[in-house]
Amino acid sequence: MRNAPEILIVEDDPQIRRFLRATLTAEQYRFHEALTAAEAIAQAAARQPDLIVLDLGLPDQDGLEVIRHVRQSNSTPIIVLSARGREKDKIEALDLGADDFVSKPFAVGELLARIRAALRRAATITGEASGTVFRTGNIEVDLGKRLVLVAGTAVHLTPIEFRLLQALIRHAGKVITQRQLLIEVWGPQHSGQSQYLRVYMAQLRRKLEADPTRPRFLLTEPGVGYRLLEG
Ligand code: CA
Repeated sequence: MRNAPEILIVEDDPQIRRFLRATLTAEQYRFHEALTAAEAIAQAAARQPDLIVLDLGLPDQDGLEVIRHVRQSNSTPIIVLSARGREKDKIEALDLGADDFVSKPFAVGELLARIRAALRRAATITGEASGTVFRTGNIEVDLGKRLVLVAGTAVHLTPIEFRLLQALIRHAGKVITQRQLLIEVWGPQHSGQSQYLRVYMAQLRRKLEADPTRPRFLLTEPGVGYRLLEG
C-alpha cells in the first residue's frame, strides 16, 4: 500500500500553521513545514513532497520565487494561499505554474477539496491516460469524436468554442487564467485579447448551461479566470 501523501506547508503565520497542522493530521497526510521562501526552496528540493501549500507573503522573499524555483525542476502540485482581493498575485502565481489557489480566510473543506483534486490530477498525469470522454453534470464531451451532448442531446459547437471547451477540460477542476486560455485557444500573439474570451465563454454557456446567467459548470473566478467544475 502506498504511503500517505506528503505535503510541504510554507507559511510564516504561526496561527495558520497550527490550523493547517491540525487539519492535515486529522486527514492523515504527512507534512513538513517551512517558514521562509529559502527554507521552502531547500525543503522542496530535499524532500520532493507530493504537494506544496504555499503562502505568498513570506518574510524573506515573495512566495512567487518559490514557484519559479520549483518549476525549474518539477511539476509538484502547488496550491497558493493568498489574501482575498490580491487578484494580481493569484494570476501571476498561476501563470508561473501554480496549480490552484485558496483565498484567505479559507474554509477547511475548501482547502482539503483543492488538495485532493490536485493530488488526483497529478496521479492521472503520471498514471495511465484517462479516457477520451469527459463528463460533468449532464454535459458529456467525447473528445475523440468531437461530440458534445447536453442531457443526451447533441449540441453543435464552432471550432473555436470546441477548442475553448477542450482547454477547460484539460484543466478541469482547477482555475485557469484568462492569459493561459487565450494562449491555448488563440495562440501567444493574442494573450491580451480578453474580449475574445468573454464573447466565446458567453456562447459556450448559452449552449451548455441550463441558466447561462447562473452557470453551474463554466464558472468565473472573479478577476482571475475560469474554472470548469468536475463531477
Ligand atoms: Ca504570510
